[in-house]
Amino acid sequence: MRPIIGVTMSLQSGIPGQSDYFALYRPYVAAVEQAGGVPVGLPAQPEAAADLLGRLDGLLLSGGGDIAPDLYGQEPHPKTRLVDRKRDRFELALVREWVKAGRPLLAICRGIQVLNVALGGTLIQDIPDQVSELVVHQVSEGEARHPVRLRPGSLLAALLGGEELEVNSYHHQAVQVLAPGLAVVAWAADGVIEAVERPGAPFVVGVQWHPERMLESDGRHLPLFRGLVEAAKG
Ligand code: MN
Repeated sequence: MRPIIGVTMSLQSGIPGQSDYFALYRPYVAAVEQAGGVPVGLPAQPEAAADLLGRLDGLLLSGGGDIAPDLYGQEPHPKTRLVDRKRDRFELALVREWVKAGRPLLAICRGIQVLNVALGGTLIQDIPDQVSELVVHQVSEGEARHPVRLRPGSLLAALLGGEELEVNSYHHQAVQVLAPGLAVVAWAADGVIEAVERPGAPFVVGVQWHPERMLESDGRHLPLFRGLVEAAKG
């Protein structure tokens, strides 16, 4: 039996002449399949987090809009975009259930931010405004790329191999104050946190980049998904 991996979806709303719908980019689905898991899409349903815990083997938090800043005690920055409070409540509840139960989860882009906020951390709300524009983390067209430095001895470094990795970059926010229980395991050259993990947990990993979009050109990112699926078998 292959493990069932829940993948969170995003709500597409406000499209003229069309009903709202939940969406999931195909590369997330393809990455879980390629790693040997069975992906199932999870629309936001905050009251169902505990029900899902007992029925899924692993969790993948996908990318999306910004988390409502009041959820980590801040006023919204003018560039706050695409807030979906129902999705926030759902994913924060999922992370808390998952971490409490010691179950495997992989958190991508918005996901690493959800992971950090769920466990008590805060976010840089706009990197160009609050850190620097020296490293381009986001470009308006297409995708930026930059190297990240991996922490030697981390689970992430063991999975990906080596001390440095080229990643894509499509985010204007990042981890600010790290949540208790998490460790930083990758940085960009400007100091922006690019990955975290939970030492001692079987598999709790968050990355700020989009490994699912890099698989076709760079198989070095597949072990992230394999790591999740293997941990979900346990
Ligand atoms: Mn970046």
